[in-house]
Amino acid sequence: MNLYEYQGKQFFARYGIPVSAGEAVTTVDDAIAAADRVGYPVVVKAQVQVGGRGKAGGIKLANDADETRHHATAILGMDIKGHTVEIVWIEHASDIAEEYYASFTLDRAAKKHLGMLSAQGGVDIEGVAATDPDAIAKIWVDPVDGLTEDAARAWVEAAKLNPKATDGAVDLLLKLYTAYVEGDADLCEVNPLILTPDGKVHALDAKVTLDGNSEFRHPDYEQYDATQVRDDREEEAHAKGLQYVGLEGSVGVIANGAGLAMSTVDIVNQVGGKPANFLDIGGGANADVMAGALEVINHDPDVKAIFINIFGGITKGDEVANGIITALGRVQIDNPIVIRLDGTNADEGRAILEPHLSDKLQMKPTMVEAAEAVVALATQEAAQ
Ligand code: GDP
Ligand code: MN
Repeated sequence: MNLYEYQGKQFFARYGIPVSAGEAVTTVDDAIAAADRVGYPVVVKAQVQVGGRGKAGGIKLANDADETRHHATAILGMDIKGHTVEIVWIEHASDIAEEYYASFTLDRAAKKHLGMLSAQGGVDIEGVAATDPDAIAKIWVDPVDGLTEDAARAWVEAAKLNPKATDGAVDLLLKLYTAYVEGDADLCEVNPLILTPDGKVHALDAKVTLDGNSEFRHPDYEQYDATQVRDDREEEAHAKGLQYVGLEGSVGVIANGAGLAMSTVDIVNQVGGKPANFLDIGGGANADVMAGALEVINHDPDVKAIFINIFGGITKGDEVANGIITALGRVQIDNPIVIRLDGTNADEGRAILEPHLSDKLQMKPTMVEAAEAVVALATQEAAQ
C-alpha cells in the first residue's frame, strides 16, 4: 500500500519523527483556513503518489491568504504525470540549510534491511546513484539485531553530513528504523531530510509503502487501503479478493501462485507478447475464483487472448479443470483462451478439458508452447 505524503508524515509522527505541522484539504477555501491555523509562511503541496512534484509545479510557498488561494487554485485539479491532484497538504514552511536523503528498504538477496543515507538530497536519488554512487552511505541491518545507536552514528559519519546534523540525524534514523520495522513497511523514504539553520533535523517529505498483508496487526491501515490509487480493473479485482496488477499489454494472464503468475508474465514477454496483467488466483482454483478472474480480464478492453496457466498442487488438476469448465459456462468470453495444466492429476484434468477444446479454447502441453500460442492468437485478434 502506497501512502500519500500527508499519510506518510502522520505515520512518521506516531513514531516521534519530526515533521512539519500541516493539514490535508480538498478545496481552496479549506486550504486558506488550514493555512491560517498552521501559520504563515506555508507550503502548498500536491498530494499524488508520484515523485517530482516540485519540478511539476505542484509545490509552492505562500506568505498570505491571497498567495494560498492562488497556489491552491492552480494545484487542485492539476495533472502530474497522469495523476490528478485532488488533495493538497498545507504545512508550515521550513527554513532549509541543507537537504539530505534517507531510506530503509529490504535487501532480499542479503536478507537484511538496507538503509541509505546521502548528503546529496532533495534531488533524484537514482541520479546520485548513477553519477556519484560513493555519495550514498549504505548500512545493512540484521533484523534480529536491529539498528544500534553506535551503528547509526557510524553510518551518519560515513555519509559526511554536516557535523551539526549528526545528533539529530542519528535520533531521526533510529526512529525511522523503528517505524519501518514496527509499522511493517516495505519502504520508508525521506527526501529531503533537512537540516534547519537552527540545527534541527526534520523530515520534509515522506514516501511510505506499507505491507498490505500486515493489516491484521494494524487494523487502522484500513484507512490507507481505502485511499489506494487503483485503475478500474484493479478496483474490480481487489473487490473480488484477487491478487491483480494491471499492465499495458493484450494477453490476459491467470495463474495459480504468485511465482507462477510472475513466470507467466515473463514468458509472455519472452515469446514476444505483452501481458495485460498479473493475476494470481491463489491455491484454490475453484469455479468461483476462476469465474471472478475471467470476469476481471473480460472487462479489460485491451485483452485479445487469455492464458490460463495452472500447476496443480493441493488443488488437483481435475478440480481445476472442472472449475474452468463451470466458470466458462457462467462468463461469456469472446477472446480465445489457451490453457496449460500440469502438476497433480494433470492427466485427469486434461481429459476433462479435452471434449471442450476448439479454436477458441486451446490446450498446450508446456508453458512455452502455450505462451507462443496465446501470443499468436493475441496478434491475430489485434490485426482483425
Ligand atoms: P517532491 O518534488 O515530490 O519530491 O516533493 P518534496 O516534498 O520533496 O519537495 C520538493 C522541494 O521543495 C524540496 O526539496 C524543497 O527544496 C522544496 N520545499 C518543500 N517544502 C519546503 C519548505 O517547507 N520550505 C522550503 N524552503 N522549501 C521547501
Ligand atoms: Mn521529495
